[in-house]
Amino acid sequence: MNFAADYAMTIDGKPVTSATTIDVVNPATGEAFAKAPDCSREQLDAAVASARAAYKPWRARPIAERQAMIKAAGDALLANADDLARLFTHEQGRPVDAAKQEIQGAAAWLHAVAQMTPPVHTSEDSPAQLIQTRYVPLGVICAIAPWNFPVTLSMWKVAPALVAGNTMVLKPSPFTPLCTLKIGELFSKIFPPGVLNIVSGGDDLGPWMTGHPGFDKISFTGSTATGKRVMESAAKDLKRITLELGGNDAAIVLPDVDLDEVAQKIFFGAFFNSAQICVATKRLYVHTDIYDGLRDRLAAIAKAVKVGDGAEQGTVLGPIQNKRQYDRVMDLLDDARANNLTLIHGGDIPENGGYFVPVTIVDNPPEGSRVVQEEAFGPILPMLKFDDIEDVIDRANASEYGLAGAVWSKDIDAAIDIAHRMETGTVWINQNLNLRPDTPFAGHKQSGFGIENGMEGMLEYMVPQSVYVARG
Ligand code: NAD
Repeated sequence: MNFAADYAMTIDGKPVTSATTIDVVNPATGEAFAKAPDCSREQLDAAVASARAAYKPWRARPIAERQAMIKAAGDALLANADDLARLFTHEQGRPVDAAKQEIQGAAAWLHAVAQMTPPVHTSEDSPAQLIQTRYVPLGVICAIAPWNFPVTLSMWKVAPALVAGNTMVLKPSPFTPLCTLKIGELFSKIFPPGVLNIVSGGDDLGPWMTGHPGFDKISFTGSTATGKRVMESAAKDLKRITLELGGNDAAIVLPDVDLDEVAQKIFFGAFFNSAQICVATKRLYVHTDIYDGLRDRLAAIAKAVKVGDGAEQGTVLGPIQNKRQYDRVMDLLDDARANNLTLIHGGDIPENGGYFVPVTIVDNPPEGSRVVQEEAFGPILPMLKFDDIEDVIDRANASEYGLAGAVWSKDIDAAIDIAHRMETGTVWINQNLNLRPDTPFAGHKQSGFGIENGMEGMLEYMVPQSVYVARG
């Protein structure tokens, strides 16, 4: 397979091109390097019809067969990890090693979910009656993914939905369609036609999909603003929804930490993938006693990390993934400058037309400043001082978001107590960014609606059916 050209959608098991195309830009140069199909309405109809036709036989298959195919899909990702990682770096910007980790992580996800089987609950098993509840699939799933973890976040949907017996039409972000299209080509040799259709296109395609009457459920990952539009669109015919949305995650650092031990971990918990992570630390609350020490250590790491083209040896942090996001991040930086906030910049960035932003720490800005209140989704980290634990928990929770958070302390009991009081779906203690296929991931407040991962996540692609059997 040629990973450098011939990007086609997968509809009914076949490669499909389109009359028009969208440009795919390498964010490290700002230049278009490939074209992806721009799905027409008729092609979307064909994809939905194909998924619908494939649904009945797919759900009728023994689950073990569906699980075996999901496992084979994981094997296919591993077998092509190097090629996919190179392509990933070109379209997404992340350095090749980290890009390969994403492909391998997505494969591990497919392998783990391939071992999950939904439960059957027995409420009564007596001489009078048998009452059992099992879970049945929903039908055809509309899956929409963002650009920051395009492969992983797509596989978070593909694996549980297909094991559960649904079929799917998956749409990658217009900014990062290429790996997903190639994965569609790889998987078309594994799944029966129609089980997994992959379509790419411009800004119209998402709304066409969420408004399409042929879907039974929408599984969406992206921004909170778009998530609200998806929910509105789903209301028309009461499609089920799962929304994984934005976050403005707080980390709280207590005064007893060993600064040399935690600084590196805290830095990458905030800046990995150039901070374009829904669950990155986006507000760093540090006890006054250790504030200066941690700030200086983070500033030193920021100076040392190489920001550049992910295809170049030694690059640690790549560019912002797309121009739209770059403009948003620059706007936040301009606002911080206009308000005379103290900015500590990291090392130099390439000046070549790529979407590079210097790693930036904002030194104790006012709580109400935009850089604290908004999800930056770029390498600008506000560090804020605290003295009182009650006060800092309130400040951490004073957000419309509730995705994840972190607590750093040697006193694990104290840290767990704080974790239990944080209004977020995930809390890490002395670690960061760790997510697992067997553990539910759910945004509280406006960070989401529903659950991904774990058995709870798989059951979001199913609906209970209770069967009452009279005996005797
Ligand atoms: P986005 O909302 O702009 O786009 C996400 C996807 O939705 C893309 O595929 C896009 O084409 C599509 N889309 C856009 N408008 C649509 C519409 N009206 N109807 C249907 N689909 C539409 O988000 P993004 O900029 O790609 O991703 C960044 C955001 O995603 C951040 O806010 C981040 O926190 C969030 N995110 C959340 C999670 C999570 O699991 N909670 C994971 C990753 C990213």
